[in-house]
Amino acid sequence: MALYMKAAEILEKAERKQGALKTLVYESKFTNIKQLFALVCETQKYSSILEEIIESTKLLKQTKLNMHLAKVLVHDLLMGQGLKCGGSWKAMMMKHRSRLQAVLARMKVKQKVSRNEDLLPASIQQLVGDQLPRYVRVNTLKTTVEDAVDYLKRDGFSYLGKASRLDDLTLKKRDFVMDLHLPELLVFSPKTDFHDHFLYKAGHIILQDKASCLPAYLLNPPPGSHLIDACAAPGNKSSHLAAIMNNKGRLFAFDLDAKRLATMSTLLLRAGVTCQQLANQDFLKVDPDSPQYKDVEYILLDPSCSGSGMVCLRDNASSADQEKDHARLAALASFQLRCLNHGLRFPRLKRLVYSTCSIHSQENEEVVTACLQQNPGFRLVPLLAQWPERGLEPLTQCLRASTTKTRTHGFFVALLEKHSEAGNKKQEPLVQISDPEATPHRLSTCEKRPASSEEESEASETEDKLTPAEGRADEPGKKKRRKRKKKKKAATVE
Ligand code: SAM
Repeated sequence: MALYMKAAEILEKAERKQGALKTLVYESKFTNIKQLFALVCETQKYSSILEEIIESTKLLKQTKLNMHLAKVLVHDLLMGQGLKCGGSWKAMMMKHRSRLQAVLARMKVKQKVSRNEDLLPASIQQLVGDQLPRYVRVNTLKTTVEDAVDYLKRDGFSYLGKASRLDDLTLKKRDFVMDLHLPELLVFSPKTDFHDHFLYKAGHIILQDKASCLPAYLLNPPPGSHLIDACAAPGNKSSHLAAIMNNKGRLFAFDLDAKRLATMSTLLLRAGVTCQQLANQDFLKVDPDSPQYKDVEYILLDPSCSGSGMVCLRDNASSADQEKDHARLAALASFQLRCLNHGLRFPRLKRLVYSTCSIHSQENEEVVTACLQQNPGFRLVPLLAQWPERGLEPLTQCLRASTTKTRTHGFFVALLEKHSEAGNKKQEPLVQISDPEATPHRLSTCEKRPASSEEESEASETEDKLTPAEGRADEPGKKKRRKRKKKKKAATVE
């Protein structure tokens, strides 16, 4: 119920022009901010249609709800999750469901359309049509890509192989592909819902936007590393880091928000992560010289940001909102820079990955530029030559992501590396991706990757763990077929 109340409160404030929608959502400090984003955005999108339904059924009079709450509840009942979090409101709304459904059906008949989105004005429909694919990261702590693909095929999905260009990510219902850039990432059509799926509930797959998989993938900490996730909750990137390290090493994860950290704890448990040490602590107050962090060589820093890259949060802010946003951006950038500078103080640090889901250069290139000026011992690592969108000039070593160029939410990533590490010593291999242009424009089939014998023996110890994390897909000379014992397939674990 808290979700619906919060969403209604935000819609009301936005209507009274107390702030841009995105600012209000962020300021709400709600535990599951993504779920709240989605609900608020979708309800607002259908606002006029919902109002018509509510008025013609006289719902407000009969329920004593206010209009904003009624819109949120009617939206979730008719077009969303069916009031899963509704508590006593669910029972009340169910009494009116058939009348509400009937009005919606009449509206569709009148306009000669069959889908809810066809009721929307053309300008909004364009945005809906542009929806992003559903990205699914296979959790290699619990299964393998191969097993997940097999399971999904048996579950009625059609596997089309590995994508080789961006257009291959435009998929029909039930079709799916392996991503062209990131291994362990499967791509489905936009509205594919996995929340009730076995693989999701059992932690075998993680629902994570492709751009948000970049930071851990690029940081690429070797198994056994000590690393920090500085602003970690709700923990998708931490779970990705743990998978890359195959749970070997130590992951210190900090977050200021106790509720989000509690959510993270549940998420990590489900994902089979065991190498973490969570702390409800301000990262800026963590002592880099404390003996417990003496071996920390890698840091992932994904601090609070404006969220301007989140597609649904792009609303038309008034000039007053923009002014408020400007002040907020400056405050965020200053916080982000302090976090970056603090991260670079850890004495054995080799690499730090910095990311935001913002499209503002103030929070991205400008923060990184200021940090490099203040820390001449660090430099930028050039990332993924084939990635289609770069950081703004001159920071083209960094990556940007967007709906149009990468078919993801807006995102920014920079990888900083200590100079001395890159100078005399042998440089660590950079994460590479296969060049989609170098491969023929057709879908290729899934390729198995090698696993070490150490990984094999560990996998056989844990029943739930089907196969351990695999080696990097594109490292040269590692294309041998994986010699692993035949494990129970994901499908048979259920
Ligand atoms: N990396 C996370 C993930 O992938 O699931 C998302 C992180 S979110 C963008 C930013 C997080 O930073 C929020 O959970 C917020 O509570 C936390 N945060 C903000 N200020 C912080 C601070 N000073 N120290 C630690 N965490 C902080």
